[in-house]
Amino acid sequence: MATKIELARNLLYKACWLKDEGKPFAKEAAMSKLYCSEIAKQVSDEAVQIHGGYGLMKDYHVERFYRDQRLLQIGEGTSEIQRLVISRYIGC
Ligand SMILES: Cc1cc2nc3c(=O)[nH]c(=O)nc-3n(C[C@H](O)[C@H](O)[C@H](O)COP(=O)(O)OP(=O)(O)OC[C@H]3O[C@@H](n4cnc5c(N)ncnc54)[C@H](O)[C@@H]3O)c2cc1C
Repeated sequence: MATKIELARNLLYKACWLKDEGKPFAKEAAMSKLYCSEIAKQVSDEAVQIHGGYGLMKDYHVERFYRDQRLLQIGEGTSEIQRLVISRYIGC
């Protein structure tokens, strides 16, 4: 889980770095939006599983993370649309 988060963070930072450098960044932005959203889904799901029943109770942060991550695959460009954008950039 930590490795997935680190990879997602690095992809996001690369897209930000490209923008800061004034270079084209649309493909990397779409890739990082897609990947970070998917990793948030996987990791928060696993975190709930690790917590067992407590993972579904509001006493623990993972319950909130699990609910909130669902928006990430929909808001600001759904995962399907990010895939369409990426496919155009790689010549599909
Ligand atoms: C909690 C929340 C907060 C939001 N806040 C804001 C906000 O502050 N500002 C704002 O502007 N919007 C906001 N939105 C709206 C959000 O950006 C849209 O929900 C999002 O863009 C998806 O659009 P839609 O809901 O119309 O889904 P649709 O476009 O109807 O898509 C439905 C499904 O079909 C898929 N789909 C659509 N077209 C294709 C295609 N060509 N190929 C493959 N799959 C496709 C989508 O990926 C999705 O899974 C918010 C949404 C939520 C849930």
